[in-house]
Amino acid sequence: MSVAPAIVDRRLACPRDGAPLFARGEGVACQAGHRFPRRGRAIDFRGEAAPGEAAQRDIYNGEVGHYAEGGDELRRFVRDHLAGRVKSKQELLLRALSGLSFAPSPEVLEVGCNDGRYLSLALALWRGRGIGLDIAERALERAALSGEGEFHLASACALPIAPASMDCVLALDVYEHLGHDGFRRSLREAARVLAEGGALVAYVVSQQDRFTLHETLRRMTGGALGVDAGDGHRYEDFVAPALFREAAAEAGLAIERLDPYHGFWTLFADYWLPRTPRLAYRLLERLDVHLTREGYGNGYLAIARKK
Ligand SMILES: [Zn+2]
Repeated sequence: MSVAPAIVDRRLACPRDGAPLFARGEGVACQAGHRFPRRGRAIDFRGEAAPGEAAQRDIYNGEVGHYAEGGDELRRFVRDHLAGRVKSKQELLLRALSGLSFAPSPEVLEVGCNDGRYLSLALALWRGRGIGLDIAERALERAALSGEGEFHLASACALPIAPASMDCVLALDVYEHLGHDGFRRSLREAARVLAEGGALVAYVVSQQDRFTLHETLRRMTGGALGVDAGDGHRYEDFVAPALFREAAAEAGLAIERLDPYHGFWTLFADYWLPRTPRLAYRLLERLDVHLTREGYGNGYLAIARKK
């Protein structure tokens, strides 16, 4: 008589067919024989990356860009937050996370978790259990040092997560890196893994950015400045609010709020006035209202519920 092997974790599933995963050799495998190796404590679920994702992986792995800042960014972030010195966008995200509530011990997934700072914050706020996914090994090494939760390597477009197993999915500054097809796939994946009533919290860089600081810089410099190319940004991959609404409806997500942000002054402060006190952000947000209420912003915060 053979004993059935134990399922490794009911929240995890084969990213290719959604089937349960069993320990097999050094890694894990589903019954169809799809195998995924372990790298330290993480499991490597990466298959084929979306076009922008590979570039993003290289940025987070530290070859280019400014992300390779060492392992204690998360601690610095929490310290700066306590000292009231975080950026206005971080305040916005924190307010959004603080405003959500869940049943006890919610399951939280962060897609594109980088060093795990927002997952750690969310778990501290909600006292939940968390999984962070990223495509870059270096990001996960940093997350493993100081982040809360467990971390695995995976594409944002093929989540190694069981259907309807999550109460919340965070996707912050992820969807503008996947190309529009990748964005739609990733949104469908978020909807698939959310339980009914579960919340997607996303921050997305917007194509609808007329008159914002970045768009003004682009116009003034003939495109040399104003797209954050160091962050792997390409304007054609940005996601307009209308496209987000359309793709969310298609994925079975009901939008609860979609708030354009980073009009002009808040973005200016986030770039050039790093020590702006928290209260001043409220004033800057009011100065930006003439843009954001018309739907213009360099990005937007969206919260959507699984129907
Ligand atoms: Zn499989």
